[in-house]
Amino acid sequence: MSTTTGIPDGSLLPPRPRLPVPRPEIAALPLYSRALGLGTTTWVASSNESSVPPSKVVQDAMAASAAGLNRYPSLYGDELVDAIGRRLGLSDEQVTAGAGSLPLLQQLLTAYTGPGTEVVHAWRSYEAYPILIGVAGASSVGVALDSGHRHRLDAMAAAITERTKAVIVCNPNNPTGTTVTHDELLRFLSRVPRDVLVVLDEAYREFSQPERDETSLLPTFPNLVILRTFSKAYGLAGARAGYLTAAPEIIRNLRASAPPFGLSRVAEAGAVAAWAEEELLSATVAAVVAERQFLTRELRIRGLDVPESGGNFVWIAMERAGELEQACVRHRVSVRAFDGDGVRVTIGGRPATQAVLDAVDSYLGAPRGTE
Ligand SMILES: *Cc1c(COP(=O)(O)O)cnc(C)c1O
Repeated sequence: MSTTTGIPDGSLLPPRPRLPVPRPEIAALPLYSRALGLGTTTWVASSNESSVPPSKVVQDAMAASAAGLNRYPSLYGDELVDAIGRRLGLSDEQVTAGAGSLPLLQQLLTAYTGPGTEVVHAWRSYEAYPILIGVAGASSVGVALDSGHRHRLDAMAAAITERTKAVIVCNPNNPTGTTVTHDELLRFLSRVPRDVLVVLDEAYREFSQPERDETSLLPTFPNLVILRTFSKAYGLAGARAGYLTAAPEIIRNLRASAPPFGLSRVAEAGAVAAWAEEELLSATVAAVVAERQFLTRELRIRGLDVPESGGNFVWIAMERAGELEQACVRHRVSVRAFDGDGVRVTIGGRPATQAVLDAVDSYLGAPRGTE
């Protein structure tokens, strides 16, 4: 029985819930966790941000953009897309920009996956993947890393089923820092069916100082999607800017399904300015790589299992990660612990590195410990 408005009057219906009810997969999602001691420590080494503020040129460009903020930005970050396309030799139909690479990944998963489908990724890998896959309503299939904390690409290819819509390859892998070589990627791409997306998340690519640019594979593999960000090497985590390169058909579908005006004018101005600072980027990366090598060596001297990292962080594989995290906080540096698996330390300046080493020494009970 309905009223004249067409709304059921409810007399014959079961009682309604007292609150709006989300889709069941949303109610089951964990919230993103925060690092211990954040906001109280002297050094933040827990979120893989850059420890260097944006340059004056970048800050000025962002400030200048404020004068135009009464107007919407371009629909798809046209100016940034243009600058990126020109450098990488890609057309505007092969690049799209957004408010970080995570929103772009969310958009991609929403457009191409959903209930009843599967997304394969390595595990342990980026903790956002299972959450974003869950939001899309798809099932997350985690394939264990090998004993060297690297992707097992053969096992990932073997995990593809009729239901698989996408495979995510995180290179370098967050949080272990391990990398996939070009030849390994090529071999993997040739094994994956062409109707399955291969999402290459290159959030840290600059720190691995790669010899080739995997965007050159786009014409050969129309199912390849490459995600990049201005949050890490470009030092703009707080501005929110990222981009995605793929075949024009994929870009079209992403644009069709995206909320419009995703990239703010301020973020776009900052990203365009940062993109132009090629020498500064090289210098930043060189400094991070040198400090990463120092920390890796020092941790290995202390007998810890530290894989070679291609990121702006190192991974200390260990069971009792929470205990080392607490020791770090006592030494005034916040790090990221994944209990049972390991501790991830973002590379910063030497004082932060030394604080981590002091914490490790106190944790291990070494003579140099301060506790
Ligand atoms: C930090 C990070 C990102 C970047 O996300 P943004 O939304 O661009 O800030 C993406 N992927 C991985 C693996 C990361 O660690």
